Amino acid sequence: MYDCIIVGAGPAGSATAYHLAKQGHSVLLLEKAALPRYKPCSGAVSPSVAQWFDFDFAPAIDRTMRKVRYTWKLGDPVEGELQTAEPIWMVRRDVFDHFLVQQAQTQGAQLQDSTAVTGIELKGDYWQVNTANGSFEGSYVVAADGADGPMAQWLGFPEQEVRLAGVLEVPTNTPLEDTCAINFEFGLVKNGCLWNFPKHQGYSIGACAFRGKNLQEFKTYLEPYAQSFGLSYSQGSAFTHPLKVWDGNRPLHRDRAVLVGEAAATVDPLSAEGIRPAMVSGVKAAGAIHQALNGNAEALAAYTRSMHEEWGADMQWAQRIASLFYRVPGIGYRVGIKRPTATQRLGQLLAGEIRYADVANRVMKRLGGGLIPGLGG
Ligand SMILES: Cc1cc2nc3c(=O)[nH]c(=O)nc-3n(C[C@H](O)[C@H](O)[C@H](O)COP(=O)(O)OP(=O)(O)OC[C@H]3O[C@@H](n4cnc5c(N)ncnc54)[C@H](O)[C@@H]3O)c2cc1C
Repeated sequence: MYDCIIVGAGPAGSATAYHLAKQGHSVLLLEKAALPRYKPCSGAVSPSVAQWFDFDFAPAIDRTMRKVRYTWKLGDPVEGELQTAEPIWMVRRDVFDHFLVQQAQTQGAQLQDSTAVTGIELKGDYWQVNTANGSFEGSYVVAADGADGPMAQWLGFPEQEVRLAGVLEVPTNTPLEDTCAINFEFGLVKNGCLWNFPKHQGYSIGACAFRGKNLQEFKTYLEPYAQSFGLSYSQGSAFTHPLKVWDGNRPLHRDRAVLVGEAAATVDPLSAEGIRPAMVSGVKAAGAIHQALNGNAEALAAYTRSMHEEWGADMQWAQRIASLFYRVPGIGYRVGIKRPTATQRLGQLLAGEIRYADVANRVMKRLGGGLIPGLGG
């Protein structure tokens, strides 16, 4: 019998496994893919995640970036620099995620990859977790199986709408210049944007509509956008993947089980940042399960509350800003993105130095003002 069985070895599952194992608990991490595995993702990670771990992330970071460039329909460019103490990390998800799993293993967590979970059963005071390679028993179970995993539904949580995002990974023959920028393109995707994140030797080019109808033909967006950087679509590998965006505070626990990461729909509805909230939720869930194992009957409910107060409360503001911004993206670009402080605020938000709540009133006034001729310009 394990103290805890974690389903899914992405950043949420590994963060949970790391902290539970570090506190001396027996942990089994079950992952359906063979590791290392690629996860469709552009791989921008806030360096602030390092504060919750006591190891050096350097081996998992592909490159760092400070420069950000924005365009409106490929024109009207504007550039900014992240002014945060640390630049933003760019990671390759096969490398980054495997590194985190290995850190959890060094603390004693056991890994079984190539092992899809096929069902779970609550047997009184423990869970039986069934896989194609046999069954395992755990006092607690963690659903860390991402946006398209089955665990949340099996645990009886209501189904949630998923967005669809596309990404084109284009390798280059030589390393990219130090001076290149993170790129965002507004105006070509209704209710969303295009982006191009440089890696050490390649680009990760993405597209998503964050509201309304999901994009369907990703190639029609990604191909011309790639060409605008002199890159050919056919040289890359294209993927689509669901994205479970935060859409209201919901319970994240039930008896002896919690949801973490995208299984808990933690993705920021404005920036689509999912890795940092996945790791935060994993760290918090580990703390809660540790307390529950020590007899605190309220610990899992406290996990839900803490995620609502410390993440969900701010995601409400992110959602409100996104809703207004994508109603009038041209105005948003002119009165928001083009401001010299926009990139500084973006960096501070990703670093957790400020919250959306701190800037929401000003941003929404500007966007609202922009709707009235003569104001907000
Ligand atoms: C195109 C795109 C671009 C993105 N870009 C960024 C970005 O630049 N920065 C950012 O912060 N976020 C980004 N995101 C979001 C980010 O990728 C996710 O939010 C993040 O991976 C969530 O981590 P997780 O650990 O919850 O889930 P995942 O990383 O999805 O891991 C879940 C794991 O569970 C496993 N699993 C599923 N079902 C089972 C099962 N039945 N049994 C066993 N294992 C199972 C899967 O194989 C997977 O390894 C992007 C997302 C997309 C789609």
